[in-house]
Amino acid sequence: MTSTIGKRIHDIKASLPEGVTLVAVSKFHPVEALREAYDSGQRVFGESRANELVAKAQALPADIHWHFIGHLQTNKVRTILPHVTLIHSIDSERLLKLVDAEAQRINRTVDVLLQVHVAKEETKFGFSPEELNELAAGDTLQSLRNTRIRGVMGMASNVDDEVRIKDDFRRIAIAFDDLKRLSSLSSLDTVSMGMSHDYGLAIDAGSNMVRIGTTIFGEREY
Ligand SMILES: *Cc1c(COP(=O)(O)O)cnc(C)c1O
Repeated sequence: MTSTIGKRIHDIKASLPEGVTLVAVSKFHPVEALREAYDSGQRVFGESRANELVAKAQALPADIHWHFIGHLQTNKVRTILPHVTLIHSIDSERLLKLVDAEAQRINRTVDVLLQVHVAKEETKFGFSPEELNELAAGDTLQSLRNTRIRGVMGMASNVDDEVRIKDDFRRIAIAFDDLKRLSSLSSLDTVSMGMSHDYGLAIDAGSNMVRIGTTIFGEREY
């Protein structure tokens, strides 16, 4: 019998265009819920807290791809690096350099996205599009040795106004195009945007990675 979680994942996947990756955002949900998702075939999970990600990675099968999607504190880089395949939330040059140094230290290569901030909320982390352009045009990205920049991650404003949401996603997509043009990195292929309530609009605007939690696992209990 297919579980509820498995059915929801199946339904979402059936609705996604080809080439769009589903990240099942499992933060705050228990290992048993992730296990149900895993048993239905899901292999990409997103977590926003370092210790939680590590505990779940140790409790679940090794073929899971763990994505870190929350604000990454510098003192947690070492904690998550052995476990993550993609960090969505690089929000400063300092953090980027630290991740690269740590990846060198443990002799691995890690994929990352640069977080772009376009939403109207002021408390959110990330580079403004202007800051991202500066980073793209500078020397830092080319100097990284064990970090592969795969693209950008962003969030739309938390509002009901569809026009505003669409415009935010469009600006994130433009930031990705600018990053490609200004950096000429060949590793850029990922635009991570879209959550439970807005992923359709995100895909229309060019997303190829959606991060969906509530629609799969239900409301989170913090
Ligand atoms: C929690 C979270 C999500 C998932 O949000 P839902 O609304 O539950 O789908 C996506 N992206 C980030 C960065 C998050 O922190």
